[in-house]
Amino acid sequence: MPDAILRLALPSPLRRLFDYRAPPGIPAAALQPGMRLRVPFGRRELVGILVEVVDHSEVPADKLKPALELLDRVSPLPAALFRLCLWTAQYYQHSLGDTLSWALPVLLRQGEPAEARQERFWQACEGARAEDPRLARAPRQRQALSTLAQHPHGVPHHLLTHLEINRDSLNLLLEKGLVRMEVRRHAPAERHAGWLAQAELPLNPEQRAACDAVQSSFGGFNAFLLAGVTGSGKTEVYLQLIHRTLEAGKQALVLIPEINLGPQTLERFARRFNARIALLHSAVNDRDRLDAWLAARDGEADIIIGTRSALFTPLKNPGLIIVDEEHDASYKQQEGLRYHARDLALVRARQENVPILLGSATPSLESLHNAHNGRYALLRLTQRAGGAQQPRFLRLDVKSRPLDSGLSMPLQQAIAQTLEAGQQVLVFLNRRGFAPTLLCHDCGWIGQCNSCDARMTLHQRSGELRCHHCGHAERRPSHCPSCGRLDLRPVGAGTERAEERLALLFPQVPVLRIDRDTTARKDAMSALFATIQRGEPCILVGTQMLAKGHHFPRVTLVAILDADGGLFSADFRASERMAQLIVQVAGRAGRAEEPGKVIIQTHLADHPLLVQLTEQGYFAFAEQALSERRAAGLPPFSHLALLRAEAHKPGQAEGFLDEACGEAERLMGEAELGGIELLGPVPAPMERRAGRYRAQLLLQGNARAPLHRLLALWLPVLEQMPGGRAVRWSLDVDPIDLF
Ligand code: ADP
Ligand code: ZN
Ligand code: ZN
Repeated sequence: MPDAILRLALPSPLRRLFDYRAPPGIPAAALQPGMRLRVPFGRRELVGILVEVVDHSEVPADKLKPALELLDRVSPLPAALFRLCLWTAQYYQHSLGDTLSWALPVLLRQGEPAEARQERFWQACEGARAEDPRLARAPRQRQALSTLAQHPHGVPHHLLTHLEINRDSLNLLLEKGLVRMEVRRHAPAERHAGWLAQAELPLNPEQRAACDAVQSSFGGFNAFLLAGVTGSGKTEVYLQLIHRTLEAGKQALVLIPEINLGPQTLERFARRFNARIALLHSAVNDRDRLDAWLAARDGEADIIIGTRSALFTPLKNPGLIIVDEEHDASYKQQEGLRYHARDLALVRARQENVPILLGSATPSLESLHNAHNGRYALLRLTQRAGGAQQPRFLRLDVKSRPLDSGLSMPLQQAIAQTLEAGQQVLVFLNRRGFAPTLLCHDCGWIGQCNSCDARMTLHQRSGELRCHHCGHAERRPSHCPSCGRLDLRPVGAGTERAEERLALLFPQVPVLRIDRDTTARKDAMSALFATIQRGEPCILVGTQMLAKGHHFPRVTLVAILDADGGLFSADFRASERMAQLIVQVAGRAGRAEEPGKVIIQTHLADHPLLVQLTEQGYFAFAEQALSERRAAGLPPFSHLALLRAEAHKPGQAEGFLDEACGEAERLMGEAELGGIELLGPVPAPMERRAGRYRAQLLLQGNARAPLHRLLALWLPVLEQMPGGRAVRWSLDVDPIDLF
């Protein structure tokens, strides 16, 4: 009988499987797909995942190495997750091994045991009462018992201190037989300790229609787009649908964008449900992440909330998938495996036969298109819940008006009025730092990054020039490096400068800046929000971090300092992004009784898209933008793939792409694939970045199928091309950023 050959997926960019012999002493019959093995790979050891066992290998028998160790007795990967990873690897033309590395918890990839931690749980015994005569003189035992009685599912040991339960008292209660202790799986998915059981709100007719529509397809695949204006009660719809999912004995997976929203969102869910909630975002440590993953897999978590990669959390009883803010760009991973979590969530919902709900106040044009062509059922929420009004928009033409640190006079007056009325102001500017440029007034020198084709941003407070593209930072020069004179001037305004100017103009109120520089420290964000929630007059200045999800009920004026970038950018998605940002920022205002006002400073006050957006709203804008996309043959009316390359020497990346282009043309001819255009290669818009020269080749197909057939033929060829050795290249399927 021939030896069994194990075909493994290894964490390598190479799009192939690797053959090994079984580890010594392990019979082939003990092996099943999904199990992990430690294997030798060159001079390293890697953890691979078994894909199949076969009886023949192309590798000569004397070159086949045995695996070193079998790491699992049963496969830790459920079949459904494995299938999703296979689909992902194929669709994004990515190596299966690397796809699995992105999809699995770090500790599993590193070969740690796929086992949950165990913990002691304390529970009051049936019939045990604090009035028990044995406790008459033991107030601490009485207190411990009554606290435990409020937690019928038991209190994990590590929360005892938090609940002010005394350990000695517990042991005494244990001796009296009034409490019991059992060792169970550590609860990464916890029932909230201070559970409040907040009541469900009575739904308005639109909300009820949305809930009922989704519920009616429980148990089968169906895709819904919940398009509801900001504050229309989308989250309430999610919550009630999750409730119905839990009642049906199923699990709900909720994807949220990558922001500092984790704790807030958890709070809102935890108040509502006495359910086991697992949270998976970037701040969760590796151990907790694995525990949450295992709990979800084994049906020990009811609700899984997480950012992008939580999409790959296995579920024992999947019932519903929700993607909140489905338009958000953070769902697309921009390195390595360039997947889109929203798109994959749809694939997963179909594979697992559950309904999926995509929600947004500003749906992506892709999703609206899918609603138009019937692939998604469109659910609209047109009114703000709780009677709050929609904000009013004002385009403020700043042509030939002086700007003082980015602020025009009429805007300054509007801010003053709002503050005098005791209300809060939000100033939005999507540019960090003090000024985007430092210029010598005498000789025209400009602070450029040495490694990028980009200017360095002046950060006044830290006294640095920083490149926002490669991260390089240097001290701000005291005199001009070129002519030696002293007249160095910041040009343009970022959030730091706007903050400084506003603090001078309005010394009587606090000015709070919210951007990546101010919120890098962990608690900074919550301290800022506490100030805002107190409701006293103040000014918030910030980047798009402000636009996401937070509620600022006392903000009645939103000022958008510069909307023009989105209107004349070369990226065809720029106007969509700008519109989404404007509407999302505007949505922060006037959520309660007070109506909000939104002032947009612009040099293009008559631009049709801007007029449409501000006068007729996002959906009118989106229709207009979609018809422009259709006319230009751009996505979603065509399909893109972008081959990027970068190299240390100029010309190298383009040389590689030239060759790649030739191969693509050859393959298209051979396989008779039509309707695909090759655009480029061209230098990237910022050609040099972090010391590398970058270029790109865009593939545009009328239909998805031929484009993907070409990619499947092309990638193995690219992998073999000698020119590929000196360049770093990557393929981006359905890119959302063309730069
Ligand atoms: P969205 O997620 O669409 O921005 P939310 O669900 O956060 O909206 O709701 C906005 C506000 O309206 C919240 O304060 C919420 O409690 C309230 N709300 C939602 N639905 C209702 C309802 N049916 N009746 C009363 N208030 C509601
Ligand atoms: Zn100079
Ligand atoms: Zn740089």
